[in-house]
Amino acid sequence: MIKDIVSNEEVKEFFTNELKRNKNSGTYLFYGSDMSLLMEFALYFAKGLCCESVEGDFCDTCSACKRIDSLSYSDLEVLDNPDGITVDEVRALGYTSSSSAYEGNKKIFIIKDISKMKKEAGNALLKIIEEPNRGSFFILLNTNLNILPTIKSRSILVKIKRRTAQELEVDQFTYSFFRGNNDDIKEYKKLDVDLEEGYSYADIGNAVKVYEEKRDIVSKINVYKGIRDFINNRNYILEIDKIFFAEEITRNTGDRNIMREIIKYTVDVLGDIQGLEERLEMKNMMKAPINMKLFFIDFFLKV
Ligand SMILES: [Zn+2]
Repeated sequence: MIKDIVSNEEVKEFFTNELKRNKNSGTYLFYGSDMSLLMEFALYFAKGLCCESVEGDFCDTCSACKRIDSLSYSDLEVLDNPDGITVDEVRALGYTSSSSAYEGNKKIFIIKDISKMKKEAGNALLKIIEEPNRGSFFILLNTNLNILPTIKSRSILVKIKRRTAQELEVDQFTYSFFRGNNDDIKEYKKLDVDLEEGYSYADIGNAVKVYEEKRDIVSKINVYKGIRDFINNRNYILEIDKIFFAEEITRNTGDRNIMREIIKYTVDVLGDIQGLEERLEMKNMMKAPINMKLFFIDFFLKV
């Protein structure tokens, strides 16, 4: 039920009011810094639209609710392309949206990282949301509001705030360790792992390698710990060892998403120590077109 959602009271109120209106179609832009939380809220809203047993809310027990949660509902499509949804993907979406629904009378499209779309894809999406087919609902997710203004102006904006440490029921140390990331903290709570226990920065290569293989929270924690150890000791680490640290990362993963995660985590942790200006400067470095290995060396030499 909507009332059971933890945090973001205004959004819960919006869901209730919006679902009451019984619309035929709609486009929403959910934005906020935690993508995993945006996805969680998108699924709540999708359930609200499709639930078979209650009107204007969701029950979590009917077949539609359960299958939306497991992403196996045939009228729910999630588009997720870390490099940006392509124009072909948008066209395929247009086709699906114009054919009839399998289950109920609504089709839900959740599209992640709208700002990463190229202009052509953005314009194709704009055409679809300008004249939506009956029963089509688009939930666009983005970590900021830097998206095509034409798409923004046709969307209902919904800001999703991060859960607080209190809402996630963890102490401040744990909350900061995970930078408030909703999914990470939930996964961590199922484990018995000591976050204060150290992991040497010299072993970062191994941590990254295991994380790339397993993609689980335990190996992610070791990567974070290795970075934390590097940051804590940064004033005593020789340049040659900083270069080694950077090379160990790029030698053990070719996955750009993992690389982005590592930079983002480092920047966020450092930002707490060095202040906002420094943080922005380092974030801007990420935008430059780059040879990843050289970028990593340059980046960690500056840390
Ligand atoms: Zn239900």
